Amino acid sequence: MDLTKDLIKNDFKKKLMNLYSEDITESSKLHLYLALGSLVREYASEKWMKTNEQYYKKQVKQVYYFSMEFLIGRLLGSNLLNLGITDLCREALKDLGINLSELEEIENDAGLGNGGLGRLAACFLDSMASLEIPGHGCGIRYDYGLFEQKIINGYQVEIPDNWLRQGNVWEVRKEDKAVIVKFGGTVIPAFENDRLSFKHENYEAVLAVPYDTPVIGYNNNTVNTLRLWSAQTIDKDFDLDSFSKGEYSKAVEHKYSIESISQVLYPDDTRIEGKILRLKQQYFFVSAGIQSIIRRFKKNKLPISLFNEYISIHINDTHPSVAVAELMRILVDEENLSWEDAWHITTNTIAYTNHTILSEALEKWPIDLFKKLLPRIFMIIEEINRRFCNEVREKYKDEKKVYDMSIIADGNVKMAYLAIVGSHSVNGVAKLHTEILKNKELANFANFYPLKFNNKTNGITHRRWLMEANPKLSNLITETIGSDWIATPNNLIKLLAFSKDKSFQDNVHRIKQNNKINFAKYVKDKYGIAIDTDSIYDIQVKRLHSYKRQVLNIFNILDLYYRLKENPNLDIIPRTFFFGAKAAPGYYLAKQTIKLINTVANKINNDNSINEKIKVLFLENYSVSLAEKIIPCADVSEQISTTTKEASGTSNMKFMMNGAVTIATLDGANVEIYDAVGSDNIVIFGMKKDEVLAYEKNKNYHSYDLYNSDPRLKRILDNLVNGSLGVINSEFSDIHKYLLANNDEYFVLKDFADYVRAQNRIDQLYRNKSKWREMCVYNIAHSGIFSSDNTIKQYSKEIWNAKGIHVDI
Ligand SMILES: *Cc1c(COP(=O)(O)O)cnc(C)c1O
Repeated sequence: MDLTKDLIKNDFKKKLMNLYSEDITESSKLHLYLALGSLVREYASEKWMKTNEQYYKKQVKQVYYFSMEFLIGRLLGSNLLNLGITDLCREALKDLGINLSELEEIENDAGLGNGGLGRLAACFLDSMASLEIPGHGCGIRYDYGLFEQKIINGYQVEIPDNWLRQGNVWEVRKEDKAVIVKFGGTVIPAFENDRLSFKHENYEAVLAVPYDTPVIGYNNNTVNTLRLWSAQTIDKDFDLDSFSKGEYSKAVEHKYSIESISQVLYPDDTRIEGKILRLKQQYFFVSAGIQSIIRRFKKNKLPISLFNEYISIHINDTHPSVAVAELMRILVDEENLSWEDAWHITTNTIAYTNHTILSEALEKWPIDLFKKLLPRIFMIIEEINRRFCNEVREKYKDEKKVYDMSIIADGNVKMAYLAIVGSHSVNGVAKLHTEILKNKELANFANFYPLKFNNKTNGITHRRWLMEANPKLSNLITETIGSDWIATPNNLIKLLAFSKDKSFQDNVHRIKQNNKINFAKYVKDKYGIAIDTDSIYDIQVKRLHSYKRQVLNIFNILDLYYRLKENPNLDIIPRTFFFGAKAAPGYYLAKQTIKLINTVANKINNDNSINEKIKVLFLENYSVSLAEKIIPCADVSEQISTTTKEASGTSNMKFMMNGAVTIATLDGANVEIYDAVGSDNIVIFGMKKDEVLAYEKNKNYHSYDLYNSDPRLKRILDNLVNGSLGVINSEFSDIHKYLLANNDEYFVLKDFADYVRAQNRIDQLYRNKSKWREMCVYNIAHSGIFSSDNTIKQYSKEIWNAKGIHVDI
């Protein structure tokens, strides 16, 4: 299909007529957007059909990426980009008097994730399709994604994210592919045909209905599938008995209870809530996903013993780890395989990515709750554990070891252990993180299974985060080094030849300046605050969490502010500090930190005595679409987590790719950014891994000593609770207490002095224009290695043994 501008114009008008019986002049922007989206999906539909057909016929290995979260954001822009019709569409619409960018703004973000983990899943889908790898997503179609954040009087207020309200043009409901998922009930063993079998009775049956969204590859014919499951009642939507008695809410109770399974995303990032509904969600999509994989596999008429040769299931963190037991259940109970054969297939099918070592994020479920909800699955986990413990016992003859490694212990089912035992690969998400997993957190397992553990450093898709988010920079790069960096992002390194080239530096700078000016307009419109577009844009956008240390950032800002108050002529480059962060609704300290940032912003932005040298802005509702706007205008990228706590980070990569200079601890993938660009092109501060681990081990950190010895810290901390910020004294007393009385778990005070030094160094570096611009180019040039295309190539080769195939049209 060769599209032309005229074809698009005609198709678009026809679409508008068919969908709404409207022509352009009488159509709303919403209808124009929906018509365009629907047309774009139609343009991908032949490729989608052919991809499925050829995957089936050629019997190539399929990868299924199981994730509770897919933070994909908007799709119109990226689908146009990947289909290669952005400019054509823009021109066609322009002829019709329509502005494409305005329509893009109509789309609601698909915010089906919390942060980095969900965004990684989205980047991986884009890379698999673009590399022609048969890889699909499997998850939950939440009716409500991550809450929308409003800031009212400085506080976060959460609003339900009704993202489907205006319809979703990208998905296709596949009622005919629905499956049944069973909860609760009793399991009765029976002996039939010389074989032990298990009868599941009195369970609650939930219908899982899939909604498929095309995942369009860049510049190829591949269209993979993101399959998200929605929970529905099987037969009766309401109970007629109650209904006829006039008990209307009772009549629909059952329906609501079932549909609640896929109703809302849990808004906790790296802090797990042990709620039964969450376990229900997990089993719901895992069971539905595996059932549909098995059904499709069987259509090929291959023996089930070859399952793992044709299927890889990847589990994104432990959330889908019941997959181990569910696959065993199907193979043993339904396919009648022996335990040993089923175990061989299961462990060779499943691979697991660990995302964090924070203890509050390690999933475990109380035995009673688990057993009641998933009786047969629990029995299977018990058997897996019995056999595993025997192996450990055999190897070490050490009961303490057996106890420490047991999947079921202390009244809980430990999901990370189940995931490790039941898979053939366990990977961390950056070199440092993997090293800590192997040598510390999971050392027992790494010793027991030395070959299972490996590293796969996270990545980001350069298509969304550079080409789509920053088209001018992307075009400049292509004009300068040719376009092969798009297929081979490592070729961005060719930009090094231009790192000292004044005219190239100036062009990069001009583009950034232009991005900064556009964003300043957005800020002026939305917040009524004027920002100095010549100031340094210093940006920290990520979830709000104590370990990410937004408080450290604010402490430096306060210190700078007090210095400016003492000396309004203090010679600094003007700076605008931006924050964007959602706090989990139940995470009190994180919400207080948002109030603190807004309080400090209010104080500083309204103080005329400091000559507008600094401004602080908290951007509401940080999301993928906001990230795409703000990252291209960053001068400074804040990556300041306590070393060892941020497993990888991915916003660090997005900023680098857009030519920001990073101020960072040597944590997560920051270490690899540092290794790539060298010490001249990044500003490093803070404690190193071994120092943090030593303090944690020896418990010899005392934050009060720093409070007493550093007058800057004393001033900041005192002012937190003496009313000088313009709020009641007790407003921030819990932050104060956390840092002093409770001894500052994440070493904010410890790293403060070095952070201030590093921030002053940023100021000095920025003064040397050519040096700074060279640093920016250096960062862009080295960012190609962090394309998720590289990450996915490693997963494909080293974990999945999956190969790309070209789809013919
Ligand atoms: C990339 C991204 C993240 C992850 O940011 P980190 O700084 O790596 O934690 C979170 N949220 C959104 C919307 C993102 O785009």
